[in-house]
Amino acid sequence: MDTSKTNNPFRITRVLPEPDLYLHTSRGKPIPVHAIVLASASPVLENMIMSNRTVKIQGVPYDAVTAFVSFLYTSRCTEEEMEKYGMHLLALSHVYLVPELKRRCIKGMSQRVNTENVVDVLQLAKMCDAPDLYVKCIKLLTGNFKEVEKTEGWRFLQHHDPRLELDILRLMDEHESRKKKCRKQREEEGLYMQLSEAMDCLEHICTEGCTDVGPYDMELSKEKRKPCSMFDTCQPIQVLIRHFATCKKRVNGGCLRCKGMWQLFRLHSFICQHDSCKVPLCRQIQLKMQQENKKVDAKWKLLARKVASVKAMSSLSVPKRKRNEEIRDTINNSGIRNFILI
Ligand SMILES: [Zn+2]
Ligand SMILES: [Zn+2]
Ligand SMILES: [Zn+2]
Repeated sequence: MDTSKTNNPFRITRVLPEPDLYLHTSRGKPIPVHAIVLASASPVLENMIMSNRTVKIQGVPYDAVTAFVSFLYTSRCTEEEMEKYGMHLLALSHVYLVPELKRRCIKGMSQRVNTENVVDVLQLAKMCDAPDLYVKCIKLLTGNFKEVEKTEGWRFLQHHDPRLELDILRLMDEHESRKKKCRKQREEEGLYMQLSEAMDCLEHICTEGCTDVGPYDMELSKEKRKPCSMFDTCQPIQVLIRHFATCKKRVNGGCLRCKGMWQLFRLHSFICQHDSCKVPLCRQIQLKMQQENKKVDAKWKLLARKVASVKAMSSLSVPKRKRNEEIRDTINNSGIRNFILI
C-alpha cells in the first residue's frame, strides 16, 4: 500500500510499519490504518478485520471517525474533539466496545449537557447504555422543562418518538416525586433532630440545672447561673418549664404552651431508662402507663423510636461540632418555641 503521501493523522510518535488496511467512511478518502492497532483496541473491529479484511464506519462525520481512530492509536482525546464530536465518539465507543473512550465520553458529555442538547444526549445515553448520563439528563430536563420544551430537539422527539416522549415524562414524574419524598424525609428528620435536642436539653436542665431552672434539691453555682452555652434550646425550654409550673389553665384548660411542655415530658418518659431520673413527671408517667396496662399509643412509640434513632445516627455519623451547628440551623429555621406535637 502506498501511503508515502499520507500525513500522519494520529499524532503517532512511535515508529510503526506501513499501514496495511484502509478504513472506509461515508465521505472523505479512506483512512490508512494498521490492522493490529485497530484489532487490539476493539474486539468488534478485530472481528471485522478477521472476517473480511475491510473496515467501514459510516453515518458518522469524517472528522469524528479520525478522532475515534486517533484514540485507538494514542488513547488520547483532546478537549476540542470532545467538544465537537463527543456524542459521535460516545456512540462509536459503545458500538465498537472501547470502554476507556466510552468512560471519557460519558464524563465529557455530562459536563457539556445543557437545555439545548439534552434531548439528543438523553437518547444517546439510552441507546449507549449509559445510566449515569441518562439520570443526569432526566434531572436537567425536570429542572428546566419549560426551556427544553421550546427546543428543536424536544419538538423533533414529540413528532418522531412519542413513546420515548412518554417515557421521559414518566421518568421526570418519578424523579419529581422521589425528590418530594426526600424533602419530606429531610423535614421529618429535622423535626426528630429538634426533639432529640430538646430531650437532651430537658435532661440537662433537670439534672445539672441551668441559668434559672434546676433540680429543687440543688443550689445553682454562679457559673451555672450564666446564660446557657450548651444548648440553643435551653432558654426557651426553661421558660416553658417555669410556665408549666405556674400556669392556671394547664393542659386540661386548653393551654397550648402547657400542652407542648407536657408532650416533651411524655416523650422523655418514653425514651428514659434512668432509674433515678430527675426530670419531673418521668417516673409518674411511666408508672401510670404500667398500672393502666394501657396499650402504648403506636404514634408515640414510633416517634420515640425515631427520635432515639436520629440521635444515635447523628452522634455516630457527624462530628459533634458540626452536628450542633446543624441543629442550630434547624432550630433557627423553624423555631422550637412554637412547635406542638401532633
Ligand atoms: Zn442550659
Ligand atoms: Zn400553660
Ligand atoms: Zn426520665
